Formats: sequence, structure tokens, C-alpha cells
Amino acid sequence: MKIVIKVGSSTLTHTSGKLDFRMIDRLVRVIADIKNEGHQVVLVSSGAQVAGMSRLRLERKPDDITKKQALAAVGQCELMAIYDRFFSDYGYNVGQILLNKQVIDIPALKENVTNTFNALLDYDCIPIVNENDSVEVEEIKIGENDTLSALVATFIGADKLIMLTDVDAFYDGAPDDEGSRPIPVIETIDDRIRQLAGGAGSDKGTGGMFTKVSAADIATSAGIDVHIVYGKKPDLIYDVLDGKRAGTVFKKKKQEN
Ligand code: GLU
Repeated sequence: MKIVIKVGSSTLTHTSGKLDFRMIDRLVRVIADIKNEGHQVVLVSSGAQVAGMSRLRLERKPDDITKKQALAAVGQCELMAIYDRFFSDYGYNVGQILLNKQVIDIPALKENVTNTFNALLDYDCIPIVNENDSVEVEEIKIGENDTLSALVATFIGADKLIMLTDVDAFYDGAPDDEGSRPIPVIETIDDRIRQLAGGAGSDKGTGGMFTKVSAADIATSAGIDVHIVYGKKPDLIYDVLDGKRAGTVFKKKKQEN
């Protein structure tokens, strides 16, 4: 199977804001292992700005866009260095792909980048994707990696998109409320589901359930199953691939042909 895995900043970091190496190592080990099983994997990883913040010893994220872009430039190097080191421990090479909105809007660029993805997968590498934060200004950027991961999944014709997140499923109410129950399977993304998805999530990442549901809308419409699972337990990826219940699955829409 071709699988896109999306991991957010809050899964990759400790509450201190520093990178959570144990977590990253677990995730890398699972990805390397499912590669050994024969799957192809693309990793969409956030965390550039958070990593840059910690590298530059800043207490909080600056409001100024240029400074955020500088953070992303520093942090992206740090992130890739860690992924490169950890994946090579398990015998795999990584390749960095930074995307921006133009790549999605301009067909020739989209084709070029899709070819690069395919070539990397043919070389058995793990493409690691993020938005090119240092060239994108707020008004024109994709803005969060949930949507980006859905677009990448459509580019490469993925079978599954697995979004690792800081809640363990999509709930029928606020996840913290005692009465709320997880919804294991969502066949159709309708207004009720959109309403339940509510607003944005934590202050570390930029996506909440709302962007996850819009991303699921894009990917399921392209015939891709989308799974939301608890990021701090990357072993759940095995359950998803084994067809066991884990988090929430948004079922792909039936394709007319
Ligand atoms: N591209 C941003 C970063 O790596 C994060 C976007 C997101 O959190 O979805 O810092």
C-alpha cells in the first residue's frame, strides 16, 4: 500500500516545546518496519517552527511573520537532521520535499513534484514533506499540514492517509466531556460532522479537528481512506494496517468509473 502519514507539532514535542526524541524514534521505527513489510510511506511532518523556537531559545512564538519564517528555516534543518539520523539507524534514506501553494495551483509544478515523489519511492526513500514556510507569507500559504497531507495523498494516489493527532479519535462531542463518545467509522462527511469538528486545536500546531475534517473531505473524495489516530502511540499504525479498530476512519467515497 501507499500510505501518507501526517504528524503534527504537538505530537513531536514535549510540553517544554523541545523535540520529543523518544516519540520521534518510535514513529520512525514503525515507519521503517512497515516499509520492511513492503509498504511505501510518505511522511508529512510539521514541527519546523517549534523546533526553530527551541533552537533559538525563544520562550514564545514571535508574532512577526518574517521571524516565524526564520524559525521555520532553522527548525526545518533540525527536524531533517533528526529524521535523517533516526531513519538511517533503521537502514532507510529520507528526502526533503518542501511545498507551497503554487505547486498545487500550477499543473506543471504539480506534475514535477509528483514525479519527484515517485522517484523517491522507487529509490525506497521516505519523502518527508512540509510547507515551505520560509518562502510563503500568511495570506497565500496553505497554512496547515492537514490539508497539505491530503493533497500529497492525492498527488501520489495513496491508499491511506493516517493523521496522527493529540486526541485518540473523532468524538460526538467535546473530547473532554464525560458524555462524549468516539465515532469509530464515518461513512459520509455531512454538516453534522463538520459542526462537531468545531474550531482550531492547540497553540502548537495550526490544525484542529476542523482542518482534519476538511482534509478528510479532500482525500476521501479522491478515493483514499483517512484515519485519525492518537499520535503518541504510533504502534496504532499497525492496527490501522491490520484493519483493526483504531481511532476514527473516514471512509473513502465510492468512485464512479
Ligand atoms: N509548517 C509548519 C511547521 O512545520 C506547521 C504547520 C502545521 O502545524 O500544520 O512548523
